[in-house]
Amino acid sequence: MTALAEKLKARIAATGPLTLAEYMADCLLDPQHGYYATRDPLGAGGDFTTAPEISQMFGELLGLCLAQSWLDQGAPAPFALAEPGPGRGTLMADIWRATRAVPGFHAAARVHLIEASPILRGIQRARLQGLPVTWHDSVGTLPDAPLWLVANEFFDALPIRQFQRDGALWRERVVGLRDGALVLGLTDPAPRSGLAHRLADTTPGDIVETCPASAPVMAALQTRIAAHGGAALIIDYGGWRSLGDTFQALRNHAFDDPLAHPGAADLTAHVDFEALARAAPLLTHSALMPQGALLRQLGIDARAGILARNLRGAALESHRAAHHRLTDAAEMGTLFKALALVAPGAPLPPGFDAV
Ligand code: SAH
Repeated sequence: MTALAEKLKARIAATGPLTLAEYMADCLLDPQHGYYATRDPLGAGGDFTTAPEISQMFGELLGLCLAQSWLDQGAPAPFALAEPGPGRGTLMADIWRATRAVPGFHAAARVHLIEASPILRGIQRARLQGLPVTWHDSVGTLPDAPLWLVANEFFDALPIRQFQRDGALWRERVVGLRDGALVLGLTDPAPRSGLAHRLADTTPGDIVETCPASAPVMAALQTRIAAHGGAALIIDYGGWRSLGDTFQALRNHAFDDPLAHPGAADLTAHVDFEALARAAPLLTHSALMPQGALLRQLGIDARAGILARNLRGAALESHRAAHHRLTDAAEMGTLFKALALVAPGAPLPPGFDAV
């Protein structure tokens, strides 16, 4: 058992069961024991790998997508080039390198990173030396300016709550204590006005998830994009409307029981893209794109061919495997989705289909 497990048990014994969101927030961000607060979780030595860590092509294509969108909206200067949850800074480094030939883009861009983990901030600082970077604790302090933002595997790390339907009422899934162990339980049924719209598409026993922290993030993006222009590109695993239990733990690249190693396993849930779009009603959103389809429309096959020309042997094999992993339906190609949001009347970024 981890030190955080003891702390959580004492808290539950004193004040009662925790919502999954409270449990998840402590596990990920507790300043002393939290998962992100205490380690670099990415890559072979960590617990999971993300698209920008798999291949430079991911960041290059998204960088050119952002730059074309900036040109399409009149190339405003200055503008905020922002990324919440930038991990090791790999995506932003690839975006920056790929956009150096876009006239005026680097001169106009101010890079804003939103990062909760001091360890990852340090890695980002080293990786992005020479770039005009400002760090933020939340999107609320982003400048009041045109905003081009990319978020990859950020929203899946935000704490979720789960509700199980019981007639027309809902029971919340909570973390409690039984015989000294953390266990999942259910509250008594209660009405939930925020879930009224889910009575139409669920049946008793179904589980739905909400992500309360995502709405203020979307509201802050909406304010800036609606007023000054820009675009938000959101890439994550999930779907258009949450249904079912998607709360999961990953430890050493393998699934784990989410209650087994608090603070020592990565906790995530599928992203409900409909809820993100509903939280930014003043913006226009694209169709929800499978990652593979988006990357193909942005030209990944041509880019992969060009990079392959200079590769031989094991390097060529691993480049081909990365291309496959990012785009194939059996890998990340359809599980991961992408959504773009822009001000009404603004063109969608390249690669994104209209609804
Ligand atoms: N986008 C990166 C990393 C994904 S991991 C990539 O694709 O490789 C999730 C990232 O979100 C980490 O950088 C983590 O520290 C950060 N993060 C998680 N919760 C956060 C929060 N509430 N506020 C800011 N950053 C957060």
